[in-house]
Amino acid sequence: MSTPERVIIIGAGSAGCVLAARLSASGDREVLLVEAGPDYPTPSSLAPDLADGRENSVKRHDWGYDHRPTTTVKVPFPFPRGRVVGGSSAVNTCIALRGQPWDYEEWASRGMPEWSWAHCLRNFKRLERDLDFGDHPDHGNDGPLPIRRHPRSELVGWQAAFLDAADRLGFPACEDSNRTGSWGAGPHAMNKIDGRRISAAEAWLTPDVRARTNLTIQADTLVRRVVFRGTQAVGVELEPSAGGKAVTVDADEVILSAGAVNTPGVLLRSGVGPRHQLSTLNVDVVAYNEAVNQQLLDHPGVAIFMRPRFRTLPSFRVNAPLIQNALRYGSKANNYNNDMLLQPGSRLIYMHHTVPFVSLMTAIGKPRGTGVLRYSSADPRSRPVITSNFLENPHDRGMAVEAMMLATELAATPPMRRIATHFWPSRRVLTNTRRTDKWVRTACDSGYHPSGTVPMGADDDASAATDPQGRVRGVTGLRVVDASLMPTIPSSNIHLATLMIAERIAEMMTAAPT
Ligand SMILES: Cc1cc2nc3c(=O)[nH]c(=O)nc-3n(C[C@H](O)[C@H](O)[C@H](O)COP(=O)(O)OP(=O)(O)OC[C@H]3O[C@@H](n4cnc5c(N)ncnc54)[C@H](O)[C@@H]3O)c2cc1C
Repeated sequence: MSTPERVIIIGAGSAGCVLAARLSASGDREVLLVEAGPDYPTPSSLAPDLADGRENSVKRHDWGYDHRPTTTVKVPFPFPRGRVVGGSSAVNTCIALRGQPWDYEEWASRGMPEWSWAHCLRNFKRLERDLDFGDHPDHGNDGPLPIRRHPRSELVGWQAAFLDAADRLGFPACEDSNRTGSWGAGPHAMNKIDGRRISAAEAWLTPDVRARTNLTIQADTLVRRVVFRGTQAVGVELEPSAGGKAVTVDADEVILSAGAVNTPGVLLRSGVGPRHQLSTLNVDVVAYNEAVNQQLLDHPGVAIFMRPRFRTLPSFRVNAPLIQNALRYGSKANNYNNDMLLQPGSRLIYMHHTVPFVSLMTAIGKPRGTGVLRYSSADPRSRPVITSNFLENPHDRGMAVEAMMLATELAATPPMRRIATHFWPSRRVLTNTRRTDKWVRTACDSGYHPSGTVPMGADDDASAATDPQGRVRGVTGLRVVDASLMPTIPSSNIHLATLMIAERIAEMMTAAPT
């Protein structure tokens, strides 16, 4: 009998949990899953902020990063990233959108036929258990992640009014936003059941998976760097998150799933990256890879706010689900009918308190601008400097302005006006495109979808840091599998796309050699 291959996965987030479950399914590999944050091994032991899927958890299980959203905004805004077994999937809004076939055909057209829509769809189906449309050919009904939509009977007033407003403006109703080519207004597909967030940890690291003798989950442990012999990755240097002695653990293969912010950080302090960034960190060089950490992709978001009318205040619920519905429509700048997202916010959370304001928020699905992520120290506890540069690109700003004009139109329809009145920004701004163009740059923030920092690509693609299976160029025995790999950002929220990437690469890694 041959010795199992030793695999270390760095980061038990969305991608890390999928990989740990899939790669330990046969006895061919010994898997060590290392996570900086804590582990809650049973649903009953889960911290309340992680179980509550009605809103994001942005403090208790967070890395404490911030970013500068635009060049106009002078103060840093929080940039939450989950730090717990489950990663950002354990703290997020539970919106489970796939994106569109053209998002993935774009990847395939960059010389990566293994990422065509047909391959991606197979893995989107494999990862889900769609409780509403499981029997539809576009869906799966026996995957680890349960997905459902809020029926009309569960909608809070503002969310129901949003659907009525979209109908008044002539948008089609969309019962299933994950159906191929769908657009219009309807309930979000969500990985939230009875208000409970189902993280990647809960879905993939089930008691049966955790009981496998070839899987070890080591929480509360910070990875300092990948250790190399020459250019071959041979292990990982770890230390307790609370501080303490570092140890090196050997591996045959190392997989970096630390997320789009930390994965490039670990790579750089391990000596793999662009010449200029490595020299700033003053680390021993293992391999120059000029495509590492050259772009930061994300979805810019802007919102207008409304004040509920006095008579509707008694029905305002401080614990209402933050988002239940969305409108997907096409921007004038792109040729698609579903690259933009507008969604109603049931309340405003300001300084960790719920304030009785409602909102209409947009996310730009296919922005052209990119941000910059930089590390100024090789200390594993150092914080990156994140400059998102949102809406610098006039094309992106145009789409934001267009979205705010549409939001204003929706807010002016009788169903929405009955509930709330205009509050911010002033009508003077929103009735003038030049003034709105200026305002959006002061009001824009992240959709919390950092990605693309270690992009995959074909062999002749100079912008690719890895091959189409996530294998890092210039070294051996090291892969990246998480949101960092996305060569372009899909047009919708990226959690499902990240899970799909992990499923797809696990599929490639476990396929019998031909
Ligand atoms: C507040 C919030 C709301 C969001 N809402 C949505 C939504 O509704 N829908 C959607 O589609 N997307 C949403 N997202 C985005 C989505 O959750 C992420 O894009 C996705 O989870 C990223 O997965 P990942 O595997 O790339 O990284 P992560 O899930 O972030 O996993 C990375 C893991 O690596 C660990 N790690 C990092 N560095 C180290 C180290 N040095 N040593 C050990 N461990 C390390 C981290 O602690 C973390 O557990 C949201 C994100 C946030 C933060």
